[in-house]
Amino acid sequence: MAATTEQRAEPLPPRGSTAWGRLKRNSLAVVGLAIVVVIVALALAAPILPLADPNITEPADRLMPPFSEGAWLGTDQLGRDMLSRLVWGARVSIAVGVAATLVAALIGSTIGLIAAYFGRITDNVLMRGVDMLMAFPYLLLALAIVAALGPGLINALLAIAVVNIPFFARSVRGATLGLVNREFIEAARLSGFSDTRIILSELLPNVLPVIVITMSTTVGWMILETAGLSFLGLGAQPPQADLGSMLGDGRGLVMTAPHVSVVPGVLILILVIGINLLGDGLRDVLDPRLKSGALSRPVARTEVAPGPPSGSGDKGALLEVTGLETEFRVGRRVLKAVNGVDFTLQPGESLGIVGESGSGKSVTAMSILGLVPTPPGIISKGAIRFQGTDLLRLPLRDLQDIRGNRISYIFQDPLTTLNPLLRVGDQVEETLIRHQGLSSRAAMAQAVELLNAVGLPDPRTKARAFPHELSGGQRQRVVIAMALANRPDLIIADEPTTALDVTTQARVLDLLNDLRRQTGAALIFITHDLGVVSELCERVLVMYAGRVVESGPVDAVFNQPRHPYTAALLACVPVLGEPDRSLAAIPGLPPAVDDLPRGCAFADRCPLVLPDCRAREILLARSGEGRRSRCIRWQEVGHG
Ligand code: ADP
Ligand code: MG
Repeated sequence: MAATTEQRAEPLPPRGSTAWGRLKRNSLAVVGLAIVVVIVALALAAPILPLADPNITEPADRLMPPFSEGAWLGTDQLGRDMLSRLVWGARVSIAVGVAATLVAALIGSTIGLIAAYFGRITDNVLMRGVDMLMAFPYLLLALAIVAALGPGLINALLAIAVVNIPFFARSVRGATLGLVNREFIEAARLSGFSDTRIILSELLPNVLPVIVITMSTTVGWMILETAGLSFLGLGAQPPQADLGSMLGDGRGLVMTAPHVSVVPGVLILILVIGINLLGDGLRDVLDPRLKSGALSRPVARTEVAPGPPSGSGDKGALLEVTGLETEFRVGRRVLKAVNGVDFTLQPGESLGIVGESGSGKSVTAMSILGLVPTPPGIISKGAIRFQGTDLLRLPLRDLQDIRGNRISYIFQDPLTTLNPLLRVGDQVEETLIRHQGLSSRAAMAQAVELLNAVGLPDPRTKARAFPHELSGGQRQRVVIAMALANRPDLIIADEPTTALDVTTQARVLDLLNDLRRQTGAALIFITHDLGVVSELCERVLVMYAGRVVESGPVDAVFNQPRHPYTAALLACVPVLGEPDRSLAAIPGLPPAVDDLPRGCAFADRCPLVLPDCRAREILLARSGEGRRSRCIRWQEVGHG
């Protein structure tokens, strides 16, 4: 076990978690950034660079080819220095493009925020206006606007900004709509904030990434569009030049002096490619869904680190978990959610897993069926044998045959398990058809029978109901019906009744227990309610900071705990008929699972702590008949 502790320091592949770190990993974005930085730096430095005056004409030196003496990129038809005009022109183009982006972003985002926040008529009026802008072909509209306002850079800027407003208005409205009904906005309304304040301090910060993403992906276009208007003579007016008007000036000389148009053309190309590469990179970095890894690799099962196949231990056992370690790799941090868990479950046995929130109960259970999300989760060590099969090394197809069939899972919140768009009867039928290959008629009959067995009143009608038409207790009954549908050998229930009121909870638990006994299924029951465990389970595992700290028969463990943590948990439970008993909260907090101490993780909160507890790893050792405890002073627990 000492080796396990050493392994913790194992270096991980570096994964940047900061925005800059993620951008750096995208090599195209880095190229884009380099291009943009160089061009913008040159443009900004134009006044201090040793360049000729871009507007001084020198008829004697007209149309000098590139690499001539004193004119690096040659001269144009009026003898003006191309390099100087290029740098000054880029300055104008970038300034106009960026300014147009800011104007469009400001107006468009305001429209989007207001439309989504106020909804109804405001939304309709604003968005129909935006639709009208979008109905026109976009460069044509810009042309029409400049034609109306008169040619000139500022008017071109305004025209480009106006035609880009819809992009901002639509994406910001979409992002805001997803937020306006969220609880934190309700809470802000209830605390009496004004609409302006809510929009500015609650909504705006949340849609800012969307605004920045839209800006970074449209600024390249806006520079191109400005160049387009200038090319047509509607933007920059002589003698001032931007990249577009330079291109326009060279138009007639393509055959005789191609460099006059090729030079600004190439710069526009490079600049826009650079900006777009950078913009795409920024979008990937800023999109919160990509950041959390949710969209990057949706995998059907938890990643398992390579390791030797497990040898078989207890032949008769239904489930055997040995040395299970599941961690989350978030950026540079490694969260050891499950840190060496062992337990065995016999057929038909019921096992409770208890512990504070965050102690690793759910991750342990989800690891069994490979349901821990990857990334960031990974099962780094251990073995899980179910009826003698190594689940961690089972092909996905075979694992899917076990899920919901031989092992079924009941989650805490039935609303997240049930598909809101399907009738509940159909969802029960689905599992029957998937795993038993029943005909749809037979499945329907059996689904109604199951819904009847879980005590739904009028099951035939209820089978045609949608999840939202049922109460919380009824929904959880449906989920239990689904879990039992294929007569599983093991049911894993993760806080199945936490979302229900106490009376419903008791009834649902009785039901679960009765049906489990009838079918002979084993049960893993996860809860923080010790009372429920003592009613429902034969054995109990007490978890703390990703480890089992005590295990044994429920009655023995609860009557005479042999780990100070179990004793502390029991002291938190109110006892009926003892109103004077003081309820002790456990002082302190559990340790962070990315920074676990070397010795006992409970040491800092333990009344029995000795220096030895922190010095070395404490092993889970026998502490009585069928009992184990991870405490060197287990004999003294509960004696003073
Ligand atoms: P509980 O005992 O309350 O069921 P869990 O097993 O859900 O606790 O969580 C154990 C630890 O794993 C917690 O510290 C939690 O923060 C971490 N964890 C769980 N899911 C994720 C995830 N998707 N990403 C990162 N950390 C996670
Ligand atoms: Mg949990």
